[in-house]
Amino acid sequence: MIIDGKKTAAELRQELKKRVAELKSTHNAVPGLTVILVGEDPASKIYVKNKEKFAKEVGMNSEVIRYPADVEEKVVLNKINELNEDKKISGILVQLPLPKHIDKRKVIETILPGKDVDGFHPMNVGNLSSGYDSSIPCTPLGCSLLLKKAEKNLSGKHAVVIGRSNLNGKPMTQLLLKENCTVTVTHSKTKDLKAECLRADIIIAAVGIPKLVKGDWVKKGAIVIDVGINKTDSGIVGDVDFDQVLKVAKAVTPVPGGVGPMTIACLLSNTVECFKKLN
Ligand code: NAD
Repeated sequence: MIIDGKKTAAELRQELKKRVAELKSTHNAVPGLTVILVGEDPASKIYVKNKEKFAKEVGMNSEVIRYPADVEEKVVLNKINELNEDKKISGILVQLPLPKHIDKRKVIETILPGKDVDGFHPMNVGNLSSGYDSSIPCTPLGCSLLLKKAEKNLSGKHAVVIGRSNLNGKPMTQLLLKENCTVTVTHSKTKDLKAECLRADIIIAAVGIPKLVKGDWVKKGAIVIDVGINKTDSGIVGDVDFDQVLKVAKAVTPVPGGVGPMTIACLLSNTVECFKKLN
């Protein structure tokens, strides 16, 4: 089975469109997402453009605030404080990476946790790991929804997460624990990654190495979610050797068309959730 992220994301956006319309009729207001983009990173510019496009598609208010790469840190922090106070704004996202002179941690910690649609604020990170209500980082949230397409009940499954970043691996681990999986977290210092993967019912690959996970790393019938987005001479590929893995896995996500589209759809979903809590 190929898990179709494009289709699942389109369905989620359709559902969100309905929820936004309902909120409009009950609250006479719609969720508002503001994205701050600093500099000219080409990939960031594409991501931000798509976020704006899909936010509009579901009927939200959406705004992008652009700064040049040499903008002073305090200008960005002042803007976040202003957005924190603004009742029309339900979600604030600062597109990463930021230029070196801007302290990423300070920026993330300035965003009001209730408007932190990326789920990167330490308050949300702590709440997620404590099992409390929180904003959940969009990519792992998207992975969870795709996993559920392949297997409704994840309880007792052995999941191997490859990568331990704050963005992907760590929050993914928390979400799998919440589903009662037994989780092994692997990373660049893991001794025998292939052996770890072979024990997995579920593999989440969030590494950044093209086609790292081979067909003979995967147990027959496992579910494989590929987070990787790697530019190669032959185009964009994931962290999983899709053609090989498709032959042994029960289900696998393609790249492109897998986790990527879910990330933005989950960002919109987080914005709706923030709106509901703020109102
Ligand atoms: P990162 O560089 O922050 O983290 C990579 C992780 O992989 C690290 O924890 C590192 O220990 C581990 N790692 C490195 N080499 C390894 C090896 N040989 N074996 C095992 N583990 C190894 O990366 P990230 O931000 O988590 O992103 C990972 C990938 O996901 C990238 O390709 C990125 O482009 C992609 N990504 C996709 C989306 C999406 O929406 N689909 C969103 C964010 C990131």
